[in-house]
Amino acid sequence: MTQESQDWKEKYLSSLERFERLQNADKERLDILRKGLVRVSLAADGQDADLDEKLAELRTELRSNTDVLELEPKVSSLEALVVALDERRRDEHDALETLIGNSLDGFLKSQLPRQNKSLIKKYQKSLPKLMEGNGNHLEMWTEYAAIQEALVAYISDLESQDGEQKGFFQRLFAGGGDSPDQSQEVDKVSKQEASVEVDSDQAEDDSEPGIIDQVEQLAEQEPVDVADANDDLASLTTIPEDEEEREQLRQRIASVISSLLQQIDLPEENHSKKDSLIQKIESPFAWNDLPDLLEETAELVTTTRVEAQKEFEGFLVSLHERLREIQDFLVTARKGEEQAQLNQEKLDNEVRNELREIRNTVETSDDIDRIKLDIESMVDRIISVVDKFHGDERVRRDEVYEHIESLGKRMEAMESEATELRTSLEATRIQAMKDALTELPNRQAYDEHIEREFSRWKRRNYPLSIAICDIDHFKAINDNLGHLRGDKVLKLVSRELSRRVRSEDFVARYGGEEFVIVMPDTDEPSAVAAVEKVRSCIEECPFNFNNERIPVTASFGVTSFGEGDTIESCFERADKALYEAKNTGRNKVVKSGGMR
Ligand code: GH3
Ligand code: MG
Ligand code: MG
Repeated sequence: MTQESQDWKEKYLSSLERFERLQNADKERLDILRKGLVRVSLAADGQDADLDEKLAELRTELRSNTDVLELEPKVSSLEALVVALDERRRDEHDALETLIGNSLDGFLKSQLPRQNKSLIKKYQKSLPKLMEGNGNHLEMWTEYAAIQEALVAYISDLESQDGEQKGFFQRLFAGGGDSPDQSQEVDKVSKQEASVEVDSDQAEDDSEPGIIDQVEQLAEQEPVDVADANDDLASLTTIPEDEEEREQLRQRIASVISSLLQQIDLPEENHSKKDSLIQKIESPFAWNDLPDLLEETAELVTTTRVEAQKEFEGFLVSLHERLREIQDFLVTARKGEEQAQLNQEKLDNEVRNELREIRNTVETSDDIDRIKLDIESMVDRIISVVDKFHGDERVRRDEVYEHIESLGKRMEAMESEATELRTSLEATRIQAMKDALTELPNRQAYDEHIEREFSRWKRRNYPLSIAICDIDHFKAINDNLGHLRGDKVLKLVSRELSRRVRSEDFVARYGGEEFVIVMPDTDEPSAVAAVEKVRSCIEECPFNFNNERIPVTASFGVTSFGEGDTIESCFERADKALYEAKNTGRNKVVKSGGMR
């Protein structure tokens, strides 16, 4: 073999070797991309069950070393899911709009002056416009607050006209054609029922429809029947005439609002606003200031919702963008691969043709010098074909690398964005499931928990018991010691309850001074025995105020889930047992179907 053909052969072989090395590097980069995708998909988990399922599928595919190019349909279906999730948030937005619109309908049916009604109608009309914008509904709430202000001004006016402090909501919602005489009747009735009203007031407390609930209901629940809500409103707005009672009510309101404010997680710039509002609420405020204080509170609570929603929507948008980028990349990568394949085939063909030519020349020609010249020029052509091939490949590969690198960086950013979002959503979720005063799980948490236990019980049929606990004569404790101390007693009882049950048991504040205990793997006799221990611990617990021992006891109703039970039927049975405990002397445990 001549020196030239030897050189050429070495050059060709080393080119092929380089090509192989680059191909391996390519594979490594694709592996990195694959791992990155797995991480991003893990970070995006937990937003939606369907999305989770698709992400899990994608992860399995990615881990199983499938050809990246086969992932394209998976990514497309993921993209469709993200779009659907986006749409669902839009539906929620529409529901909120309807809810707010409906919540004002009741006022339109009342006897409000024309100008107030037209203000409300105008607001309802402009609602869709006010709700525009990516989760920022500040303007909508501001105008809502303006309507409230007008209503409060009108009510105060009504109040000062006849010097009475109660009954104005009854008059406001008395219905279209009430004569002045009829409205006086309503006042009379409300006076006669004053004592009952205190009770119903407190029954209201029991289910704790605090400000949190009201604001959350606005965003989360089905539209409420405004006519019913008005009845509640009427009983809520009777301000006690007695100075001491007023002070207790003021303290109660202050403690509810301030614990709500303490619970909400606000952006840094709102911290001082929140602190000064808490201070205002905790100092003896004038009754006239209450609407303003409530308005400020509602505004702050709204801020947290808006922030969370904005964050979530932002995340969805960027997830959507990233998926699109990945999809684009896969398409580009596929095209690149096809191109590389073509280049390779072209190179092979050209080299093969040249070699064939060389063989022909060698076989058919006798002129050594001629052969030498021909071969030289053929080798030159081969070298330039190989060089061109490498040049093209380098350009193509550089583009792909650049693409992979920038995609990788953005995936990293998105991964930390998703982790942050998940942490903050989780924190909000945990906060929303906790009762602010006692820090026990709240009623919503109970509802979720019992659902889980109930379906476990149905699947496995292990014994499951529940107990309802209600503090005895708690109203008297409040009356004698004041609401703030009443709150303290609630906290202490809660602590006792959670300390005295097993770690597998679940204790929640069901409302007011009522608690529920869920006891898995516990039949009725064992549940009664366990609850009896808790009862006696509460009885013996030293509740001292001003060095005086305050007797605190609680009654319990216990039952176990049995054949044909639903969550509700079981709860009702425990409630009946509790009722029996109350009726037969209190401070005792009664199991369903009989006294202990
Ligand atoms: P019984 O033994 O029959 O259960 O009598 P009771 O006085 O405990 O029951 P009632 O339902 O008449 O009163 C419950 C009281 O609990 C009335 C309500 O003001 C009070 N209450 C409810 N939630 C709270 C709260 O968060 N803090 C305080 N301090 N009191 C509350
Ligand atoms: Mg009660
Ligand atoms: Mg009670």
